Amino acid sequence: MEKIKMTTPLVEMDGDEMTRILWKMIKEELILPFVDLKTEYYDLGLPERDKTEDRITVEAAEATKRLGVAVKCATITPNAQRMTEYNLHKMWKSPNGTIRSILDGTVFRAPITLPTIKPAVRNWQKPITIARHAYGDVYKNVEIRAGEPGTARLVFDGVNGQHEEVVVHEFKGPGVLQGQHNTDSSIRSFAHACFKFAVDTRQDVWFSTKDTISKKYDARFREIFDEVFADYKADFERLGITYFYTLIDDAVARVIRSQGGFIWACKNYDGDVMSDMVSTAFGSLAMMTSVLVSPDGKYEYEAAHGTVTRHYYKYLQGEETSTNPIATIFAWSGAFKKRGELDQLPQLTHFGEQLEAACFDTLGEGVVTKDLVNLMEGIEPKAVNSAQFLAAIRSHLEARLA
Ligand code: NAP
Ligand code: MG
Repeated sequence: MEKIKMTTPLVEMDGDEMTRILWKMIKEELILPFVDLKTEYYDLGLPERDKTEDRITVEAAEATKRLGVAVKCATITPNAQRMTEYNLHKMWKSPNGTIRSILDGTVFRAPITLPTIKPAVRNWQKPITIARHAYGDVYKNVEIRAGEPGTARLVFDGVNGQHEEVVVHEFKGPGVLQGQHNTDSSIRSFAHACFKFAVDTRQDVWFSTKDTISKKYDARFREIFDEVFADYKADFERLGITYFYTLIDDAVARVIRSQGGFIWACKNYDGDVMSDMVSTAFGSLAMMTSVLVSPDGKYEYEAAHGTVTRHYYKYLQGEETSTNPIATIFAWSGAFKKRGELDQLPQLTHFGEQLEAACFDTLGEGVVTKDLVNLMEGIEPKAVNSAQFLAAIRSHLEARLA
């Protein structure tokens, strides 16, 4: 069989631990035999980040800006324990945070659903994609603990003379206070990314805040979303999809009653909390995909889970592991489908689709990694190790591409 051709390289970002092992296995078993793979390779494994003083992460993000589509392996975000384990020069920042801020992107997380894994919410039939605004609010706040009675004020001094001052509270005794901010430009980027992704995936957008209570702060989010939506209205009408705004509490109630199949755009804190709820209710973290989308349409695909450290330590001791590679495979397939679409290479898009279909074929036969065994219903699951699982997917893929 002749290998499928690519024109523009993918930005390939390698990572750490168990997912780094899986990365290599996925390439060897499911990609290199079928695709004449072109990538610009960036090793974001922790040793290389330390060696390059994290320049490699910035270079990988810049390459994504230039080439448009990236695929990323999970990476370690160092903490104190990792400093000693890897003998690091510095506690390098989260690569995902660095890439997100360079691309000014929004993260969309969606579960990979199967008929044999029933979500905890019975009426959910389609995946729910959470879009979390990843800037500001409580994550960039300032706080004071008031230890005595006194006056708390919120003050703004503009460079051109705008001066506003409001009393937050007259404290009669000890208490706490907090200042938060966001910027129009970040909210606008978030809105663009949400509407772009909706057009891309042909899904409705729901957006929720608490603008009845927060009449300036949350209201600004709603206004900006309305303004930005004007740019996408015609596309939405053409595709028969809708933009729907509602209050966060109403959104929560509606999400639970819904059938799924839409994008739920959330403010930073809401997205943090709701994405954990939605992903748990759908089944397994190992089946969650994640894609970072920039407001100018650059895409970085990855799995939502981490480097699966516990499995890696077992692997290092020579033990067999049954780590689920599905979300990482879907990062590759997502990237191939997008590259195929942008470069008008229908064969590459087709390959991405068949790769996903081969995963569903395998899972549909009940051949699964250990994490899925207790979630399966209506089928007798057979747990295999990662290598056997990939081999099973490969045989389905070969049959499909023959
Ligand atoms: P994790 O790697 O997501 O793993 C947490 C647990 O979830 C695992 O121990 C495993 O449970 C289960 N799990 C996750 N993915 C799985 C898979 N593919 N197959 C089977 N089971 C899976 O989270 P963590 O242990 O908290 O973090 C490990 C490292 O990953 C940290 O250094 C963190 O900084 C990094 N991290 C990176 C990213 C990213 O790059 N996007 C995201 C999150 C975390 P059992 O042990 O019960 O089998
Ligand atoms: Mg969280």
